[in-house]
Amino acid sequence: MIVVMQPGCRAEHVDHIVTLIREAGLKEHVSVGTDRTIVGVVGDKRGLDLSALESAPLVDRLVPILSPYKLASREVQTERSQVPLGVPLAVCLEACPAIPKAKVGGQRLAVIAGPCSVESETQLMTTAHAVARAGAVGLRGGAFKPRTSPYHFQGLGVEALKLLAKARSQTGLVVVTEVLSAEQVELVAEYADVLQIGTRNMHNFKLLEAVGRTKRTVLLKRGWCASLDEFLLAAEYILSEGNANVILCERGIRTHETHVRNTLPLATVPAVQRLSHLPIIVDPSQGTGHAYLVPAMAKAAVAAGADGLLIEVHPDPEHALTDGAQSITCDAFATLMEELAAVGAAVGRTM
Ligand code: PEP
Ligand code: MN
Repeated sequence: MIVVMQPGCRAEHVDHIVTLIREAGLKEHVSVGTDRTIVGVVGDKRGLDLSALESAPLVDRLVPILSPYKLASREVQTERSQVPLGVPLAVCLEACPAIPKAKVGGQRLAVIAGPCSVESETQLMTTAHAVARAGAVGLRGGAFKPRTSPYHFQGLGVEALKLLAKARSQTGLVVVTEVLSAEQVELVAEYADVLQIGTRNMHNFKLLEAVGRTKRTVLLKRGWCASLDEFLLAAEYILSEGNANVILCERGIRTHETHVRNTLPLATVPAVQRLSHLPIIVDPSQGTGHAYLVPAMAKAAVAAGADGLLIEVHPDPEHALTDGAQSITCDAFATLMEELAAVGAAVGRTM
């Protein structure tokens, strides 16, 4: 961080800043220019009282140089992380041979697909077998649904978790499902390979800490009003609890636009890859709200360098209990996977 002094500051003002920096156990680097004096702060500034520095006499402003997140940043780890989609527990190895192999962040694109919500055994198994045949590596499906209205379908709960585990044992797909509260983490982690943190919970720090204490991979969705820095700081919460397996997911943000449910900013993908070593996938379903937009945005996401996709697929979208309008059919998903293979090949990715 750099402390920029106001024009006309004198040696005593600079000395005061140097004293504050040294009191925090850090070192300073003073540079006196013709117009301005700047003081560089050297060392880990977590113990530094920034408001004292900012309000000191003749300080103009503080300019951060390094990112506010450490563990998530490329400053700490330059190589891109490859995050396993599941922990290779002995029990999983037997039931689900796909788990130890599946990783996000490598050359292979990770496509996770399935219904918005688990509605019934028939609906889930039909979808799971269809997406597995088409080449998906993961099965998504909400058991506990965060709904904007309290009167809408809230998910089948534990019954859905059991169905997801059954679908995993039949198909070998990795199970991805959302956890809504810190109290629920233990239960959901018993059944799921990947814990999804939804957009509404990206700022729920107690939940982030709770999933950070598990050994399960976490799929962290961007808050619909969150800046990129806030998104990466949320990831930092999980990493700082000791869980290194975090996958980021861009799912669209709220804007003034009304022809889509959310605006899907694909520039997030290369921007995150520049700032962070964590893999990033894209959810074109929540990202657009319309099934007809999903294939184009899925392909665009892969072209932009996304490490994978999260796609809502339903055998009968017209009768879906949640998010039918943005769910594509099993046939449309199979076609999309073929198209994605071609786009992926053009940017050096395999399926
Ligand atoms: C979902 O994936 O179905 C979902 C609710 O996502 P989000 O949290 O991004 O709205
Ligand atoms: Mn949904």
